[in-house]
Amino acid sequence: MLDQSSEPSSANLADLDGQVFDLVVIGAGIAGLNALYAAAEYLPKGARVLLLDQKATPGGMWNTAYDYVRLHQPHPMFTVGDLKWGWKKPRGYLAARDEVQSHLCRSLSSVREKIELQTGFLQTVDTCDEVQTDQGPMAEIVFHANDHEASKQIVRAKKAVHASGLNYQLAAPLPLTSEGVVSIIPQDLKATLAQNRDSPVVVVGGGKTGMDTVLAVLADNAERKVSLIQGTGTNFFNRTKFVPTGLKRWTSGELISRVFRDVALMNNGDNEEEALAMFRRKYTTDPNANHGVFLYGLQSEEELAKIKSGLTHTHVDYLADVIDTPKGSQMVMRSGTHVDVAAGTIFVNCTGSFFRSETLTKDEPILSQNDCVLRINPRSGFHFLTSVAGFFLTHLWFRDQLRGQGYYVLDHEGLFRKNRNAWVSASAAQAYMNQVIAVQNLPLTLLDRCGLDLDRWYPLPRRMAGLIRMKSSAASDIAHCRRVLDRTAERFDVQSAPLD
Ligand SMILES: Cc1cc2nc3c(=O)[nH]c(=O)nc-3n(C[C@H](O)[C@H](O)[C@H](O)COP(=O)(O)OP(=O)(O)OC[C@H]3O[C@@H](n4cnc5c(N)ncnc54)[C@H](O)[C@@H]3O)c2cc1C
Repeated sequence: MLDQSSEPSSANLADLDGQVFDLVVIGAGIAGLNALYAAAEYLPKGARVLLLDQKATPGGMWNTAYDYVRLHQPHPMFTVGDLKWGWKKPRGYLAARDEVQSHLCRSLSSVREKIELQTGFLQTVDTCDEVQTDQGPMAEIVFHANDHEASKQIVRAKKAVHASGLNYQLAAPLPLTSEGVVSIIPQDLKATLAQNRDSPVVVVGGGKTGMDTVLAVLADNAERKVSLIQGTGTNFFNRTKFVPTGLKRWTSGELISRVFRDVALMNNGDNEEEALAMFRRKYTTDPNANHGVFLYGLQSEEELAKIKSGLTHTHVDYLADVIDTPKGSQMVMRSGTHVDVAAGTIFVNCTGSFFRSETLTKDEPILSQNDCVLRINPRSGFHFLTSVAGFFLTHLWFRDQLRGQGYYVLDHEGLFRKNRNAWVSASAAQAYMNQVIAVQNLPLTLLDRCGLDLDRWYPLPRRMAGLIRMKSSAASDIAHCRRVLDRTAERFDVQSAPLD
């Protein structure tokens, strides 16, 4: 299914040293591809553009995510610019990993019609900085082939986008002391299940990966014993209610931008726990559960019912280790509880893939001093969805409408590590406020080309009514969101400030 025909997996870039481009894009994930697609609208026809990525093909993390991952929003709203999916599937279809990767690849053919695009896969960028040259400030990019660290090449460009993503890392198997159990990562699930037909499974982690894993195990064999260690538990946005199908698209649900507004208004900058509880009661699949976090995952009521009926046990605790005792293997929980497990039990590490490294991502501003380098990164974030950031930031950058407009920049990674619920509150306020400002500044024809906009799920008349409502309360909503974001900066000592 991978559409690699047009993208050689290793480009020979030995002769680029010293060359100058109109634009260099680093990162061929959905953020970098959205940036490239948007930039192609502004660059002159035939402009020279270079796209660099460490991976062998476009698609970013969709190249390496576990094979049973699916989109959690309907596939039309996960795209590059206004690129349509080249198939006829029901609108609500949740695309699988390889389908997503293949769709993202297709965006390159489209930009090639406008610009002269050169791609360099299996290339690692060491630095991307603004430098002073005889021609004025330019972006300078130093990179090397993955397998040739010593042979660096340096290219320059009038502009560069550095879209390195959220540092999605493959998890490692949990280091368990016991020799009587099997410890794996989701990428090895299918092969391990096939080799161990009767072994029970313990899914460690109650987020989206954990839920996907429970469902994948049950789909493989509904009789297999599966239990979940869910920590404080995760809330999921209710896809059944808020992404309704058929006639209900006209009569029920709510525009996603209205949901964001509501979440932003539930917060005052000091009440993240209370706001989470309000959110849970109103918008999630399991409003009565006492789950402690929300990480913007979506779930249907049907998925939740399958998970609940398929699980043999749910532990509201954290796994510390699995040990071997004379009586057999035992899970040791963080609370101190010991729980017996059968020999050969498979432990799947679903404890999270973002912001898990010892150190934070380097803190660099969205825009370099003379606007040559645009960064889409989690420290100076414009939107918690890097895809949306890639679209809006690039359009605003090329239009010279980014600085001084009131957009806020948030240190998503710093805040996430300090307090996840405060991160949800602040990121909802930021996402809504930046959207409202963009709606005021950008032409409707351009906004209409943002295929990522989740409001597009709903019929046009509902969207237009939503836009009017958004504009009518813009001033007070922006003022509210600013207060939330300023308070976040004060309380957590992280960047949460206007982009000036
Ligand atoms: C399991 C999982 C499921 C998800 N499901 C959804 C979903 O259903 N819907 C949704 O909206 N979001 C989902 N997400 C969030 C997801 O991260 C984003 O949707 C999106 O794909 C991230 O895109 P990105 O371009 O920012 O980053 P990435 O996809 O990580 O792309 C960044 C690219 O930059 C390259 N790069 C980084 N540093 C360098 C360097 N120094 N030199 C060269 N190249 C470099 C990397 O190789 C990579 O290809 C999911 C995330 C995970 C982990």
